[in-house]
Amino acid sequence: MPLRLYNTLTRTKEDFLPLDPSNVRMYVCGPTVYDFAHIGNARPVIVFDVLFRLLRQIYGASHVTYVRNITDVDDKINARARAEGMSIRDLTEQTARQFHADIAALGVLPPTVEPRATEHIAEMIAIIERLIAAGHAYAADGHVLFDVPSMPDYGQLSRRSLDEMLAGARVDVAPYKRGEMDFVLWKPSDAETPGWESPWGRGRPGWHIECSAMSWKHLGEEFDIHGGGIDLVFPHHENEIAQTRCAFGHNIMARVWMHNGFLQVEGQKMSKSLGNFLTIHQLLADWPGDVLRFNMLRTHYRQPIDWTVKGLEESWRILHGFFNNAGVVHALDGQIAAAVRDALLDDLNTPRAMAELHALDRPGAQNALGETLKALGFSGNLATPGADGGVDETTVAALVEARLAARKGKNWAESDRIRDELATMGVVIKDNKDGTTSWEVKR
Ligand code: AMP
Ligand code: ZN
Repeated sequence: MPLRLYNTLTRTKEDFLPLDPSNVRMYVCGPTVYDFAHIGNARPVIVFDVLFRLLRQIYGASHVTYVRNITDVDDKINARARAEGMSIRDLTEQTARQFHADIAALGVLPPTVEPRATEHIAEMIAIIERLIAAGHAYAADGHVLFDVPSMPDYGQLSRRSLDEMLAGARVDVAPYKRGEMDFVLWKPSDAETPGWESPWGRGRPGWHIECSAMSWKHLGEEFDIHGGGIDLVFPHHENEIAQTRCAFGHNIMARVWMHNGFLQVEGQKMSKSLGNFLTIHQLLADWPGDVLRFNMLRTHYRQPIDWTVKGLEESWRILHGFFNNAGVVHALDGQIAAAVRDALLDDLNTPRAMAELHALDRPGAQNALGETLKALGFSGNLATPGADGGVDETTVAALVEARLAARKGKNWAESDRIRDELATMGVVIKDNKDGTTSWEVKR
């Protein structure tokens, strides 16, 4: 069965054919490091980690190059450093360290290369010079702009009308711009702002050029897969395509463009003002990383995901059941069981893959279950990190409730299974005469 992936560029699911099967190349836009990563940011990180693992199984671990960058030059970083009274370097280093710790707890493998934007200024300048020489960019007032009308097929990825593009890009009107849609490749820096010497004076890059430079350096002029969240389709990815294609003269930058849907929290857009802004760091204080990962993958990556406590509790319960039965596996790159792998080959159908895990949860399949869970990035460490004794009250309450529901439905097998599951957590339950259930921790 071939790998099939949905390509945003063609709006269809296609057979995946790498340019070079001995070096399959994928780029994913990484975080801008100025604050804790939130659980929405974790989505592309987890989704493309699953794809990375799958590609390694298909083509061999040494035949896949995965690049996920760190954006460490950005005006949001400058503003935050100023507000905190920190140096930019300290802020970006500290944030990147936190990001690494967070996503490691989510079972995410390090990418093959993790380039930083500030280490690729020379490549950015080189691409900008090529664009100017080819008539696709112009310098004005210390800025360099990409000349959008110079590219007749600009807009193929997002397929928006000019009006929609103007609204989506929130374009600034600026005297140095020739066309409204033209976007910044390079801009001047004042003495307080980080800057690098360039043919256009001391300045700093625009955001889009960073990814064109880092993907070129580490993957070449053309590569196989480019990923990120759906919000990046326009303008970020559209502009990456424009820069890279016009600088190197190819018809494509990446063959397949993949985008994960957005995550919301308890039915609402996540935002600081609504008080529902969840950082990975906070969530890890209450939930095992495995549970966060599993919960993310129970929804297909292209669908929106509603992140809820109820969903997390369910995920915790399912995963706990699996690990109760799974064989202990030490191999890092074990095999994904065939049925699970087939589900993943179908455009990373992780909900179907998770359902196939249930089919492996039976006598005789314990080792296959354990090996598959491990190959999918689950550690099996389900101790609740926050509570001292390792018992999380919310989780226990949810299990007790689920058991009561099972008993009401006369599903005695399920009720016993949950009682046993609680027992493995050291929780002993007692059914009282008045119909209530109480519980205590026995160690
Ligand atoms: P940013 O640091 O905002 O550039 O985002 C880093 C990555 O996280 C990008 O791929 C975004 O598309 C993705 N992302 C940001 N917010 C969400 C969200 N709420 N749900 C899913 N992905 C998101
Ligand atoms: Zn990017």
